[in-house]
Amino acid sequence: MDKTISETTALWDRVLKKINDKLQNKTTYDFFFSGTYISSIEQNQLIIVTTTKIASEILSTSYKALVDSAIQEVSETNYEAVFIDKDSLKKSQKKITNTTRKYFQNSCLNPKYNFENFVVGSSNREACQAALCVSQNPGKFYNPVLIYGNSGLGKTHLLHAIGNEINKCFPSYRVLYMHAQDFLDEYVKYVNGNKTGESLIDWFKSSVDVLLVDDVQFLVNKKKTEETFFSIYDSFYSMNKQVVLTSDQHPSKLNGLDERLKSRFVQGLPLSIDAPEKETCELILKLKIKSNGLDVNDFSPEVISFFAEKFRKNIRELEGAFDRLLFYVVNIKKTKKIDIEIAMDSIRSLIDVKNSEEELSMDAIVKAVANFYNLAPYQLTGKIRTSQIALARHISMYLSRTLLNVPLIKIGEYFGGKDHTTVINGVKKVEKMLKTDTDMQDAINKIKASLNIS
Ligand code: ADP
Ligand code: MG
Repeated sequence: MDKTISETTALWDRVLKKINDKLQNKTTYDFFFSGTYISSIEQNQLIIVTTTKIASEILSTSYKALVDSAIQEVSETNYEAVFIDKDSLKKSQKKITNTTRKYFQNSCLNPKYNFENFVVGSSNREACQAALCVSQNPGKFYNPVLIYGNSGLGKTHLLHAIGNEINKCFPSYRVLYMHAQDFLDEYVKYVNGNKTGESLIDWFKSSVDVLLVDDVQFLVNKKKTEETFFSIYDSFYSMNKQVVLTSDQHPSKLNGLDERLKSRFVQGLPLSIDAPEKETCELILKLKIKSNGLDVNDFSPEVISFFAEKFRKNIRELEGAFDRLLFYVVNIKKTKKIDIEIAMDSIRSLIDVKNSEEELSMDAIVKAVANFYNLAPYQLTGKIRTSQIALARHISMYLSRTLLNVPLIKIGEYFGGKDHTTVINGVKKVEKMLKTDTDMQDAINKIKASLNIS
């Protein structure tokens, strides 16, 4: 993300300035520090690239304490500096791209996804436990494991985490991560190209020990490809080699998938990942804040709660909205403390788009009521309970019930998880007031008019 890059650059510039001030000998600075930069921040480590190997050795021995304390002073965070020279960095990056592989040269594990940065809650606990289990015992217990669920809930993350963990614990195992679409592409290339020499199936048998396949639903209705995949799968199974798959739904529902494959997947261990509970979502957000080098205390709890609630169903969307907030804060508002107004401003258009796509009717009611009382819609669905907000909330409940006949439970959920008796009370209160209170009659009429309802 641009913002993170510019932030880390600014951070390192400040650290360098501090070091320069502290050093007696300017030649040391020119020799070892100039030309250095931060390549990434991983957990609490700042990975700093040096121009030469000697520089990285000198810095990590003689100057480490000085650098660490300068970082601490500038960032007020206990980062540890780790030095790597630029040639070694290139080599380590090359290793990741697998250019020496005969097939699937572009399929590689993303080191960013691991178990440490995967937040576990009841929605993903089983899948995560199984993923950890196969990482530590590949091919031993559950084979295949298939993780299924809607988009944006962490399936790909877990698959990479498995691969990275196996690489760490069993360095001699050759792990292949591939998206099912990559398999289709490689298969087409293979069939169209010369088929002499090692066949694709043989290559899998002899060159891969652990197979991780993302989004197997992409194989559906591709008969020939499925047949080849089946042969590969079967050879892995009979050799006790671990296979882990992900899919957007339970394997039994993958209509159009080769029946033999389907039954193999169903007999393995299908595990679902669901949308996380709000608490898990808040933890994911806090983790993301920290991994961006920011302080959770700069975000008002209301912001965290609002984001977690609004984007609970898709963590990718949650991350997108959060990135947008950071961009807005850094480039437009230029503020450190982030309150709910700023957060709302940053994602207003996202929410408007989301609202026009789904829950249109209830959203429209809440919007109209909020407008009428000069409030923001999120205040009506949130927890704050001033008498005016409570009244607006009750009117929204009443209108949702009478105009749309939305079930009480659903209304309760919409208004921040209230139970149905609270909704009944709210609706009754408005009904009672409507009988005598002319202000209330007037308000309801005006709100209805703004919704084009007479
Ligand atoms: P899927 O493959 O199910 O569509 P991804 O694995 O690509 O979803 O996840 C989307 C984003 O959300 C990724 O950046 C991932 O790191 C993040 N994410 C999802 N679940 C979690 C979690 N439990 N903890 C931390 N990050 C998560
Ligand atoms: Mg995915």
